[in-house]
Amino acid sequence: MSRPVVTAAERRRVVEAVPTGLFVGGSWGPSSSGDTIDVVDPATGEVLVAVADATPADGLRALDAAVAAQDAWAATSPRHRSEVLRRAFDLLMQRRDDFALLMTLEMGKPLDESLGEVTYGGEFLRWFSEEAVRVSGRYGTNPEGTGRTTVLHRPVGPCLLITPWNFPLAMATRKIAPALAAGCTVVVKPAELTPLTTLAFAALLAEAGVPDGVVNVVTTLSANDVCEPLIRDPRLRKLSFTGSTPVGSTLLTQASEQVLRTSMELGGNAPFVVFDDADLDAAVEGAMQAKFRNVGQACTAANRFIVHESVADEFTARVVERVRGLRVGAGTDDGVSVGPLIDDRAVDKAHRLVRDAVGRGAVVETGGHPVDGPGTFFEPTVVSGVAPGSEILTTEIFGPVLAISTFHDEAEGVRLANDTEFGLVAYAFTRDLARGQRLAERLQTGMLGLNVGVVSNASAPFGGVKSSGLGREGGAEGIHEYLETVYVLTPDPFAGS
Ligand code: NAD
Repeated sequence: MSRPVVTAAERRRVVEAVPTGLFVGGSWGPSSSGDTIDVVDPATGEVLVAVADATPADGLRALDAAVAAQDAWAATSPRHRSEVLRRAFDLLMQRRDDFALLMTLEMGKPLDESLGEVTYGGEFLRWFSEEAVRVSGRYGTNPEGTGRTTVLHRPVGPCLLITPWNFPLAMATRKIAPALAAGCTVVVKPAELTPLTTLAFAALLAEAGVPDGVVNVVTTLSANDVCEPLIRDPRLRKLSFTGSTPVGSTLLTQASEQVLRTSMELGGNAPFVVFDDADLDAAVEGAMQAKFRNVGQACTAANRFIVHESVADEFTARVVERVRGLRVGAGTDDGVSVGPLIDDRAVDKAHRLVRDAVGRGAVVETGGHPVDGPGTFFEPTVVSGVAPGSEILTTEIFGPVLAISTFHDEAEGVRLANDTEFGLVAYAFTRDLARGQRLAERLQTGMLGLNVGVVSNASAPFGGVKSSGLGREGGAEGIHEYLETVYVLTPDPFAGS
């Protein structure tokens, strides 16, 4: 039996410290309807606390506050914005244990992984505190020599940031930090399943010196009713969304009315290709990270293991041995590496996908079933011999199920890897450098992990191609998602002299 590493008193302290209202114009308050949303611990099914359930009028009030604060925030110096973000980073690091516990309680992942997310999420604050002072333009002579061109950047204006439940902190910092660094104000709409981390983070930002109205947070069960009026409001200048592709597509339709700037971080269906010359130790290690991190609930999770037929048996046997050693339990328990899934629907989906694959000839090597008892757990699972046409190959599993199929040569491996509407990340394991370079040019993906199982890093441009989205978060590119480019032409200063 695993044992809890946190006491009931610690849980209570962390949850009770979270402000549960809407954060608008620097003040916390209830929803105008008085309604609330229960936040549930997926490991137990128990309600942790209730938070405000915003109405469309509350959403518009938050936009009013962001619009009112925009000019003054844009007028602050880049150094000032940088230092505010740096203070937020320092505060987050001081409180890393509390943020990690809060995240585990509302989302379920093991505490170690939540600590990892605090580090990863915090890095966006540090990175963009550094980027805030490095926005530069350019000056040049036009080809005809008749004028001088100046290119400058300025903040796009008030932004709506919509985030998912699977990385409650990092998906928020990945948007809020570059927006603030660029001089934009924001309304944040966190996922209704995991609002607590964002609310606690908003309080931390205020403490770090973010002025009233620069960051506003609305939690709601009526995402569409609250967000759509903002998206159609000409005062909003940018929408940044992380979530599923169908919702992203709906938001793009709404955003077209005002020709709104958008960034879309959408779903994935990552291939994980193991070639015959791969270092199998590294491939197995990479597979465990790429599949089981975040209980498999990551847009970057490896969804399709495509393994060369000559190494498939050995790879499968080694992976199965590792998966049998994973311990399932509440994320707050000692030694747990696989926590609960977010809800019953997620468990049903994983189960359905396994049954469909088996119905088409796949073999369950280990796992394959929901776990009885309270909480929403699914056994860590390996299925091999997954046949073409299986639903698991075209659907984001979002659960701890590792699905293996085989290929014959490089051309077939690339064809299978690209056989998806998505293109967020791919993983490939090979010792052949030239092959690695060919893959970088041929795989239809925004990111490639070559002999590694995790690619996310604040210093790198994160994002996808095809139905996985538009735009990039992090890296030198991330701040430009929140900046307009303005070009100024002036006459040749030497003309007539
Ligand atoms: P989701 O699309 O259901 O919800 C995401 C957010 O959008 C939530 O805050 C939700 O309340 C809100 N939302 C839903 N419908 C809306 C509407 N009509 N108008 C406005 N807001 C709306 O996704 P989810 O289940 O929370 O997250 C999982 C999905 O997110 C997966 O597909 C995953 O791949 C994707 N994801 C992508 C990335 C990335 O960087 N590409 C990162 C994490 C998660």
